[in-house]
Amino acid sequence: MATEAILPRGTGQWFDSDDGQHWWFDSGSLALDFAYTGGLDRTGREWETVHDARELNEWLTERFPDVAPTAGGREFTDASTLRSAIGRLARQSSVGETLAPDDVDIVNLFAATPDIPPVLSGGARQAGRTNARPHQALGTIARDAVRLFGSEGGGRIRECSADDCRLVYLDTSRSGNRRWCSMQRCGNRAKVRAHRARAAAE
Ligand SMILES: [Zn+2]
Repeated sequence: MATEAILPRGTGQWFDSDDGQHWWFDSGSLALDFAYTGGLDRTGREWETVHDARELNEWLTERFPDVAPTAGGREFTDASTLRSAIGRLARQSSVGETLAPDDVDIVNLFAATPDIPPVLSGGARQAGRTNARPHQALGTIARDAVRLFGSEGGGRIRECSADDCRLVYLDTSRSGNRRWCSMQRCGNRAKVRAHRARAAAE
């Protein structure tokens, strides 16, 4: 897949919860990771990590080394529009709702703009290493969202199974039975609860 060639690393990012936990959440998807920089959840802004153009530049250049850190107010506004649309679509998709046409339009609009061209290494020229614009990164993210909400994500965009957690992820496991946003967080809490319940029953 072309995206793998242009991404410096896979998906996932660090979050700091209100309870002070520093933990890794792999949403399984570039588009979902991006949506979570804006919080995604309507329950609050606990998860929001990118609040302005400077933080947008940091996030984008970490994901896309070829992108120049030139995002300003306009780019941040556009990025916020895109990530909010992806966030709402993720929520809709995770509960099997019909995708909202307005949000689909936003994703399609960005997906139709130039993205970051994939580069094949091993050439004699240092071609393609020119800096890409932040908007091209948004194009790449939007195209990933098209795949996510189109054929690729079918039935695999889910909410974490923990009652008090509504984080949405793309289940990329081979078995297709991922249950938790993170084993480190909700998976462990569920194990502890199950252990306590067993102990109490004995
Ligand atoms: Zn969870």
